[in-house]
Amino acid sequence: MSHHPIPPTPLVAGLPATVPFVAPEALQRQSGRTFRLRLGANESNFGPSPRALAAMREAAGRVNWYCDPESYDLRAAVAALHGVATYEIVFGSGIDDLLGLVVRTYLSPGETAVTSLGAYPTFNYHVAGYGGRLERVPYRDDRNDLEALAAAAHQHHARIVYLANPDNPTGSWYAAEVIRAFQDALPEGCLLMLDEAYIEFAPADEALPLDIGDPRSIRLRTFSKAHGMAGARIGYALGPAEMMSAFDRITLHFGINRVAQEGALAALADTTYLTYVVDEVARGREEYAALGRELGLTPLPSHTNFVTFDTGSPARAKALVAELARRDVFIRMPGAPPLDRCIRVTVGLAEERAAFADILRATVPEIPEIENR
Ligand SMILES: *Cc1c(COP(=O)(O)O)cnc(C)c1O
Repeated sequence: MSHHPIPPTPLVAGLPATVPFVAPEALQRQSGRTFRLRLGANESNFGPSPRALAAMREAAGRVNWYCDPESYDLRAAVAALHGVATYEIVFGSGIDDLLGLVVRTYLSPGETAVTSLGAYPTFNYHVAGYGGRLERVPYRDDRNDLEALAAAAHQHHARIVYLANPDNPTGSWYAAEVIRAFQDALPEGCLLMLDEAYIEFAPADEALPLDIGDPRSIRLRTFSKAHGMAGARIGYALGPAEMMSAFDRITLHFGINRVAQEGALAALADTTYLTYVVDEVARGREEYAALGRELGLTPLPSHTNFVTFDTGSPARAKALVAELARRDVFIRMPGAPPLDRCIRVTVGLAEERAAFADILRATVPEIPEIENR
């Protein structure tokens, strides 16, 4: 007797097989080459703090133990850092994980979420995976179009609006008063999900304070970017106690790992290292901006650890990504118009920035302005 494979649920069967990102490792396997400069995923090439590294080395010896499912020590440290209560924090294996938790908790199948067209894609992936509907609003003037996002939220009775601030892939940033006005412009009962993966690189004096009392928003933070721990997979959500306790009903309580918990705790304590990374990244952004202007690639203003350059056309952006890959440099480009005329480059170490500048100076004249076909 022959058997058929068991089919997945209709929801899963109907999902596209695409993944949100093609990893540099996959690209290397395809090309058979190794990237010399890895500047495409906004990882911190500065690495974790030496103190975090030491803590993680030590924790590796106890990896036979499960993590503390309450992340008790780390929770206390995060609470102290932000001046919030310990029960206003939920940990997850990075923002990518927490985005799924938010969608699963607050979006019923068939309900609508709103995001920008070409924004960070993991949110969309979860919305599709939990059977939600997605409305995408084009970027305008290379920023999230807050007016149009709020209008779409009203028009489609959205339950969640996603906004990365600072934004990926543009690097743009909205100060506190703008975000407050945006929050007030959203429909009653619509959750504002603020993805603050790059918050450490933004001007602290302009940032939205942590009014956790506001039950209309959740804020997501990570150790992946400024803290240089992307591979450790740890981040957290900040929000009102009632909302955070809803997550506790469905979160994978042992889904983060002991090594990451110890590393994150040590990273938070090493403010000197964080300041060094943030300052060095600011210097690197200036270098990239000057390089872009020199080569006729207009840099967009950035409050992150990357710079997005306007190359003039999607065809030229694509050609530059391909030609740089041929020269063993990994960068990425936004996939959706109007940003698909841009390339996005992570700010690396000083020597990496110098090497990138040399390669870009050699590459750009070979890829002249191309008419978009
Ligand atoms: C890098 C990035 C993330 C990923 O965060 P993890 O904590 O590593 O899952 C989330 N959001 C944005 C906007 C990012 O650029």
